[in-house]
Amino acid sequence: MTETTSFELDPLVFDIDQLHTLASEQAVHDGLSDFKNNCVTWAEVEGNLLSATIEDSETNEALGLEMRYDADGNLLSDCECGRTNGELCRHSVAALFTYSARVGSPKELLSAGESAIEERMQSARAEVRTEHLSGEPAFGAWHGAPGR
Ligand SMILES: [Zn+2]
Repeated sequence: MTETTSFELDPLVFDIDQLHTLASEQAVHDGLSDFKNNCVTWAEVEGNLLSATIEDSETNEALGLEMRYDADGNLLSDCECGRTNGELCRHSVAALFTYSARVGSPKELLSAGESAIEERMQSARAEVRTEHLSGEPAFGAWHGAPGR
């Protein structure tokens, strides 16, 4: 119920589609795997700055990274791996997953498939509600009856 609100308050929370516009398929895949393997050893948000420490799964090296929005709303990532030219590296992706999980809306990120299922469930609920309302003419007739 607070999803829309929390998204506005937390611009660092992404859905999977947004993530794919910021990072390569490979980085999203690797970043998700790093997140699941708890490679992100530390993460903190202060203002619009997300700082994190991530253990590189290949070198076991602890990498520091900082992410923030510039004045134009572009997400900037500065990771010690140095592989962030224009796109997010796997560490940045993992940090975003960690942050999103922490603020309580990991479902958009974790599986595009799952959120598609959720959407279908929501529209199914809407259909049920409509049937329910229109399927009770007797109730409407009662209410329409003169109350004398
Ligand atoms: Zn990196």
